[in-house]
Amino acid sequence: MSLLSIVVPCYNEEETVSLFYQAVTPVLAGMNIDHEIIFVNDGSRDRTLEECLKLYNAHPEEIKVIDFSRNFGKEGALLAGLRQAKGDYVTVMDADLQDPPEVLVRMFELMEKNDDDVVGSRRVTRKGEPPIRSWFARMFYKLINKYTEVEIVDGARDFRLMKRSVVDAILSLKEYGRFSKGLFAWVGFKTEYIEYENVERVAGETKWSFWKLLRYAMDGIVEYTEAPLRLPFWCGGFLTVLMTVELLVLLVMALCGKVITTGVLIISLVLFFGGVLLLGIGVLGEYLSKTYNEVKGRPNYIVKKLYD
Ligand code: UDP
Ligand code: MG
Repeated sequence: MSLLSIVVPCYNEEETVSLFYQAVTPVLAGMNIDHEIIFVNDGSRDRTLEECLKLYNAHPEEIKVIDFSRNFGKEGALLAGLRQAKGDYVTVMDADLQDPPEVLVRMFELMEKNDDDVVGSRRVTRKGEPPIRSWFARMFYKLINKYTEVEIVDGARDFRLMKRSVVDAILSLKEYGRFSKGLFAWVGFKTEYIEYENVERVAGETKWSFWKLLRYAMDGIVEYTEAPLRLPFWCGGFLTVLMTVELLVLLVMALCGKVITTGVLIISLVLFFGGVLLLGIGVLGEYLSKTYNEVKGRPNYIVKKLYD
C-alpha cells in the first residue's frame, strides 16, 4: 500500500493539536492508504509539545514529532516536515483545521482522475478576515504576479497534496529564504486547485500579525522579482531628465537676464538626489542581505530532538 505523509506545523497550538488528530483520523480511515502524521513543534511557548507527545505515545507507529529549539517560523517547520516525510504522497496541513480534512479525499480523487502531480487548495472567500488584511493580500498577489515569471495563485493555501517527485523537487532547492508559495509555483508540475470557502480556526488564534504578514509579502517579492532593484534606476533616470530640462530652462532664463535663487535650487537638488540615493541603497541592502544569508548557508532550523 502507498504511504501518505501529513506535515503539520504547530506554533502554540495546544488547543488544536488533539482536535486536529480527532478530525483527520476518521477521514484517513476511509481512505485506502497508509499514513504518517508529522507534527513539527515550531518552538511553541505553550503545551503544544506535550500534546503532540501524548499522541505520539498513544500511536507511535503513526505519529512523528519534530521539536525545534526555538520558533523558526512556518516555512522552517514546513521544510523540516517535508524532509522527514517518507510518503509516496505528501500533504501539508495547518493544525487549526482551517484546511478541512474532507478536502483531502477530494484531492486524492482529483489527482487519480486527472493524473495530477499536485492538487492545491484555494480559498474563494476571505470571510472572517479583517478587510484591511484581505486588501493587502489582494495587492500582494497582483504585484507579485505582475513582476514574476511564476504564477502565484490568489488565495492558494499551503494545504496541498503532492506526489513524491514534487516533494523531491522542492527539497532540491537549496535556498535559505524559503517562501513556500513561490517554491511550490517555481517547481511547476501538473497542478489543479480545489476551491472552498474560508473556514475559521477551531481554537486558539492566528500567529500572523499584520507586520509579520507584511514582512512575509516583502520576502516573497524580493526573492522572486528584481523589479524593486530596477526601481531606483527608473526613478534616477526620470529625475536626471527632469533636472537636465530644469537646468536648461534656468540657463535660458539666466541668459535672458533673470535672477535665479541658487540657494533654493541647490537645496532641492541635494534633497532630490539624496532621496534617490537612499532609495537605491535601501533596495541594494535588501538584496545584499538575502545574498548574505544564502552565502552563509545557515540551516533553516535546528532540531533539538526527533521523536521517531
Ligand atoms: N505556524 C508555525 N510557526 C509560526 C507561525 C505559524 O508553525 O511561526 C503554524 C501554525 O501553528 C498553523 C499554521 O502555521 O498550524 C498557520 O498559522 P495560522 O493559523 O496562525 O495562520 P493563518 O491561518 O491565520 O494564516
Ligand atoms: Mg490558520
